[in-house]
Amino acid sequence: MNKSLEVLTTELVIGGMTCAACAAQIERSLRSFDGVTVTVNYATEQATVTHPAHLDPATLVAEVERAGYTAELRHATRCEEEPLRGLEERLIISASCAAGVFAPAVIPALGVPGWEWVALALTLPIVAYGAWPFHRARTLVSLGILASFGWSLWNLSFAVTAAITLIALTGAYLEARAKRHTGTALRALYDLGPKDATLLRNGEVIHVPADRVTVGDAFLVHPGEKIATDGVVIEGHSAVDASGLTGESIPMEVGAGDRVVGATVNAGGRLMVRATRVGHDSRLAQITRLAEAAQSGKTEVQRLADRVSAIAVPVVLSIAAATLVAWLGLGAPAPDGIGAAIAVLIIACPAALGLAVPTALRAGTGRGAQLGILVKGADTLERARRIDTIVLNKTGTVTEGRMRLASVIAAEGESREEILALAGAVERASEHPIARAIDEAGGSVLPVEEFAALPGRGVEGWVAGKWVLAGRRELLVERWGELPDSLEKALAEAVGTVIVVGWDGLARGVLVIADSVKPTSARAIRNLKALGLSPLLLTGDRASVATRVAAEVGVNFVLAGLLPEGKVEAIRALQRQGRVVAMVGDGVNDAAALAQADLGIATSTDRAIEASDLTLVRGDLRVASDAIRLSRRILTTIRGNLFWAFAYNLVALPLAATGLLSPVVAAATMALSGILVVANSLRLRRFR
Ligand code: ADP
Ligand code: MG
Repeated sequence: MNKSLEVLTTELVIGGMTCAACAAQIERSLRSFDGVTVTVNYATEQATVTHPAHLDPATLVAEVERAGYTAELRHATRCEEEPLRGLEERLIISASCAAGVFAPAVIPALGVPGWEWVALALTLPIVAYGAWPFHRARTLVSLGILASFGWSLWNLSFAVTAAITLIALTGAYLEARAKRHTGTALRALYDLGPKDATLLRNGEVIHVPADRVTVGDAFLVHPGEKIATDGVVIEGHSAVDASGLTGESIPMEVGAGDRVVGATVNAGGRLMVRATRVGHDSRLAQITRLAEAAQSGKTEVQRLADRVSAIAVPVVLSIAAATLVAWLGLGAPAPDGIGAAIAVLIIACPAALGLAVPTALRAGTGRGAQLGILVKGADTLERARRIDTIVLNKTGTVTEGRMRLASVIAAEGESREEILALAGAVERASEHPIARAIDEAGGSVLPVEEFAALPGRGVEGWVAGKWVLAGRRELLVERWGELPDSLEKALAEAVGTVIVVGWDGLARGVLVIADSVKPTSARAIRNLKALGLSPLLLTGDRASVATRVAAEVGVNFVLAGLLPEGKVEAIRALQRQGRVVAMVGDGVNDAAALAQADLGIATSTDRAIEASDLTLVRGDLRVASDAIRLSRRILTTIRGNLFWAFAYNLVALPLAATGLLSPVVAAATMALSGILVVANSLRLRRFR
């Protein structure tokens, strides 16, 4: 019945596009199918199509081909060299032929009668073969070349036609070359994937391709080798270099029990690792997907540029025709009028306009990926520009989140060992940093039943026949009434995060947990302030801990003791005051707040990616200010590009129409504007 309820996303690699108008055309033809949404990115030569499951991807490919382009389903490695080599070939052949056409001007002896027929024979391949990419895709340049050629036939002088084509082709070639560089970062990510793995199966060592590892497999990583996939170290001790994946330059020490990420490099001793995530679920796959998504999104400005490109052809044709009519009407000689009309056709091709957004996005988000910054969508950039307030979560964001149990305080008649063992057992099932600290210290092996996590409040479950509750003070008070006086006193005196533990209707102990501020946090907060943002600390932990951390890192505003809903409400309140709010968090109990913020920045790729706009692959808070700076820089670059592309068309068009720009100069300017835009975008690759 509901055959089209299920929706698939298909990625296509598109070939043969030479300006943004092509992308728009392909989008139009694919949208002719019911229920299809599509974005075609001219710079990445990629189409992202969401379509009903009953629509075969092969049909999509066929439709793109019908529109005059090539398409194939995307595989991890793509070959982009081909179109570039094709252009190079056309350029060399056209240049050789053009040399013959220009020869009489340089060597007058060649100006023998009848030479114009040789010149015609040499111009034909230039116009037919050399200019083919323009005939296929850049209507205006193609028309300019053809009109010029027609005029050459009339007066038997071919130099202008040859020159225009050659210049336009050189421009397209240089543009394609530079454009390729904008994508190097993403390609580096594709190449990062480990190739093979050394598996231990049934006591035997076997070598397999890395994609054959399955969850639960144990594999060996020798010094210098890449870790085959995400996993947990089960044996050995080493340092892991993640610089290729996250930009983090300092290797991290790992030992048994620590998590490691696939595609990072084992820089020390031999490790044995048990695979926890493979293939599509791995961190590398996740990062690659995010990096790709950023590049194929479209900003508002891009959509505007696309609309302009789409109406450019009829508008410019009318201007060119009007130019010709005006010149002839004013009694000017035909060659002057025709020259001006041809210059209009060539100059007005919106090639630079089509490159303005995608090349900047590609170079900028690619650079981001190298630095461990993943921008979710192009629209994020606009929001990153407007934020004025930055809300920082405490646990795991400003602090290490690697918590340690500092002390156990038992109520009268209770045993500290029992408190720790029972609390450790329930916490084992939770993924909160607090839980890990308690679990590690408790070393409990007791199983837990009917476990439940109460987000931002605590955990509960059956352990050894007892109903155990561990969490914030309010939780236990709410369930079982006032705490014994001895525990209230311990809570008031304790320095640090405190967890109350109880079972069978009675609070019986307090666990004090210590966390340290990340050494980089204070610096990071200075950087954020330097960007003009006012920082605010937000936490579910109690106020005494929060104010101490805030003072240590230089934050003046603190919102403490909040439940997850309270965090959302706090953000909303700031927004009601007219603030534009960014929030940084790890997603444990703050995913909803991240989503409520105008700009959500997640400091882990595991959680909260859905709710965030920016993901920082590394925990270092300094990357947050880099991410905001980078987003703003990409946006500035896009605006600069658009300005130059538009300004060039606006200034050059009247000059061409009034005959102040010859067709040859028009071709040179057109080529130059495209190259300048790409070069401007490439500056983003040096962002630091
Ligand atoms: P933050 O906002 O600083 O990251 P959370 O909102 O994650 O802190 O947690 C707030 C409080 O909720 C903690 O200080 C703790 O008292 C309680 N809590 C959360 N998760 C747990 C858990 N797994 N076990 C015990 N207490 C918890
Ligand atoms: Mg947190």
